[in-house]
Amino acid sequence: MKLKCKDVIYDLSKLTEEARTKQFAIWHQMNKKEKLEIFCCCNEMANIYPPMHVRYLSQTDKYIIANHSLKQEDDRELHDSSCPYNITYRKTIKNIGINYDEEKDMFSVNLSTQRDRDTSISESGTTSSGYRTGSGAKRNLPLNEPVNRLYYLFLTMLEYRRVEVYHPGGSRNLKGRIWNAAEHVQVNRKLLKDMLYIAGTDERKINKKIQLVVGWGNKGTHEPYPDKERSHLMRIPLLALDKTDHLSLEVTVSKAVYDKGILFDHLDVETGYWLIWKEAKSPGDWPKEKEIVFVPADEKTGIPVESGLELKMLAHLVQKQKSFKKPLTQNVIELDLDLRPDMVVYGENDKIAIIEVAGFEEDAYREKLESKRKKYLEKGYQYLQWEGKESLEDWNELNNL
Ligand SMILES: [Zn+2]
Repeated sequence: MKLKCKDVIYDLSKLTEEARTKQFAIWHQMNKKEKLEIFCCCNEMANIYPPMHVRYLSQTDKYIIANHSLKQEDDRELHDSSCPYNITYRKTIKNIGINYDEEKDMFSVNLSTQRDRDTSISESGTTSSGYRTGSGAKRNLPLNEPVNRLYYLFLTMLEYRRVEVYHPGGSRNLKGRIWNAAEHVQVNRKLLKDMLYIAGTDERKINKKIQLVVGWGNKGTHEPYPDKERSHLMRIPLLALDKTDHLSLEVTVSKAVYDKGILFDHLDVETGYWLIWKEAKSPGDWPKEKEIVFVPADEKTGIPVESGLELKMLAHLVQKQKSFKKPLTQNVIELDLDLRPDMVVYGENDKIAIIEVAGFEEDAYREKLESKRKKYLEKGYQYLQWEGKESLEDWNELNNL
């Protein structure tokens, strides 16, 4: 996370633990002499800076960054919809089985596919959540299924390192961001970084400890295919994450695992992330592929999308050098909206525009969009709706934002 103090920006993820503690101690000291203002930069594109402060925990002799006032609920909502200090965001991810520990700056989740039902499974969400998909329908993802948690965990990781936000000219460095996020995730009580392999890195790093393999996928150029000799197996070509024309490796999964994966094959989006979760039967064994997820995403930015039209809109915004974000797991709470817009564009002079990509004709869907439109306008945001038919190139309202 990034903090601002006396107009200097501090990127905490770039500081070592030691440097961070030192900085926190300095701030804590300074605050004793004069009122020191520290702000969270999660929402900088909207020019909103939620106040924070350094807290000293005498029991553990540690400094942590806390919300300025825990009593003022309103303050929290100033945080971006994917900032771990946003209380609604925290609740949402908890509901999908992901806990966030503020003190450790650590997410934790249980992805075990073995049904031994230990305590952490029962305490985290067993309800299901409606995840909207590009078909316009809600997809029911029972949250006690590890495959769904894997999917949500990955979205949470992308949001933690702000992959869903695009600044013109900024570096994407997807591999680095996912790697960094994995330093802040515990899966089955182990640090994810120690069990993660990202396609495009040295293959010799794949050892018995590796349980999550992340690679880039292109169903158009590198489609998964059944193994020629063993028809019960599927082969998944994984491209390097930061060099998506380079085939890094092929992973073999059983067809049964493949068929029950989350693949979003009904979407006309060919590119995205492959996630393969592996587990060993007993300690010391080589882990076997247990779950597979395909997260449709834009190739240039790595930002997940939910339909082919969204992909076109996103590519257009990038081409037009717009700053925008594509909310992944949460509504855009800091804008005080209870509906999740497809995209938020940050235009000139702090202008904020909401973009909805409307690709469906059903009445219920239309009604929902109309109520969304009213709400956005009431709040003073510009609202742009794209039916997927008009040319984006000729759309001045959008291009002049
Ligand atoms: Zn924040």
